[in-house]
Amino acid sequence: MTDTAKILIFAEGADTLAELLTAGRALGGAAGGRVTAVAIGPNAAALAQDCLTRGADEAMVMQTADAAPPGAEEFALALREAVQVKDPDTILIGATRMGNDVVARLAQALEVPCASNCMTLRRVQDGDLEIERRVFGGRFTATQLLSGRPQVASVPPSRFPKAEPVQEVRGSIRELAVTLPPPRVRIQATSPRVRSAVDVTKAEVIVAAGRGVKKVEDLALLDALAGALGGVLAGSRPLTGDVDWLPTDRRVGLSGQTVKPNLYIACGISGQIEHIVGMKGARTVVTINNDPKAPIHAETDYSVIGDLYEVVPAFLQALERAKRA
Ligand SMILES: Cc1cc2nc3c(=O)[nH]c(=O)nc-3n(C[C@H](O)[C@H](O)[C@H](O)COP(=O)(O)OP(=O)(O)OC[C@H]3O[C@@H](n4cnc5c(N)ncnc54)[C@H](O)[C@@H]3O)c2cc1C
Repeated sequence: MTDTAKILIFAEGADTLAELLTAGRALGGAAGGRVTAVAIGPNAAALAQDCLTRGADEAMVMQTADAAPPGAEEFALALREAVQVKDPDTILIGATRMGNDVVARLAQALEVPCASNCMTLRRVQDGDLEIERRVFGGRFTATQLLSGRPQVASVPPSRFPKAEPVQEVRGSIRELAVTLPPPRVRIQATSPRVRSAVDVTKAEVIVAAGRGVKKVEDLALLDALAGALGGVLAGSRPLTGDVDWLPTDRRVGLSGQTVKPNLYIACGISGQIEHIVGMKGARTVVTINNDPKAPIHAETDYSVIGDLYEVVPAFLQALERAKRA
C-alpha cells in the first residue's frame, strides 16, 4: 500500500503547504503516493496553483470571500468533504495555532485518533503511521503509533524543506463542493498585543521573580539587582498572569518566553517543569530559594538556600562594594 498511499495535505499558507508536500511525498513510499493539497480561503486558487507547480497530484479548492475568513470549524467542515471525496490514508495539517485546532476537530468528526506537532513521520508495518512528538514541555520525545484510517497529524511549520517546483505540472484543480453554514463564532474586534519595552529573549542577564516575592512593591528589590547587573526583570507565571505584577511577555516558561541569557538568577521560584523549559538554555543559573527541597536546585549551578529578602540586599551590597574596590 505504501507506494499508492493517498495523502491529503492542508495548511493556511503557501510555505507550510509546500513543506507538507515534501512530508506527504516521503510517506507515499518509493513512488511518492498520491498527494492532494486542499486550499481554502480567499487566496485558495493561488495556493492550489503553487502546490501544482511543486508537483502535487491534485489540488482541491474552496474559495471563500475576504469578508468572512474561515475559522477552525469551517476549515474542518471543508476538510471532511475532501476526505469523503479522496478517502486518504493520511491527512497532514500545518501545526499553526489554527491548524492544531482544525486537526483536533477533524479527527473528532472522523472518530479517528490524531497527533499534533509531529516532528517525524514514518510509515510502518500494515501502513500504520509512526510519529515522534515532544512531550512534557519538550523534555521528552514520545514515539506514537497511529493505526486505523485515516491517520490525522499536524506538523510544525519549517519542519520539512519546501517541495521544489517541478518541470512538468501534471496535477489538476478540482472545486471542493461544500456549503458552509454561517460561522458560529464571529470576531467582534481585534486589538494589538501590548508589549513591554524590554525583550527578555535578548537579555544577557535575567533576574526572575517567583511567588516567593510577597508584594508587588518588593519587585523593586529584584529590579535593583537586575539593574546593578545590567540585566532585566522577568517572572514566573503566577506573577505574569495570575496577578499582573509583570507584563505577560516577561513570563519565562512553557506558556511564555524561552530565554538563553549568560546569567539567570531565579528568586523565589520553585522550579516546576513549565518554568524550567523556558530557562534551561541559560549558561549559568543561580537560585535563591528558602526551601532546600525545591526542584529548582537540581537545575542550578549555584544555589543559595535562604530568604530572598535577606540574600538579595546582601548581593546588592556585595556588588556595591565590588564596584568601589
Ligand atoms: C499549561 C501550563 C503552562 C504553564 N506555563 C508556565 C510558564 O510559562 N512559566 C511559569 O513560570 N509557570 C508556568 N506554569 C505554572 C507552573 O506549573 C508553576 O505553577 C509556576 O511556575 C510556579 O511559579 P513559582 O515557582 O513562582 O511559584 P511556587 O511554585 O509557589 O514557588 C515559590 C517558591 O518560592 C520559595 N519562597 C517562598 N518564599 C521565599 C522567600 N522569602 N525567599 C526565597 N524563596 C522563597 C518557595 O520555597 C517556593 O519554592 C504553567 C502551568 C501550566 C499548567
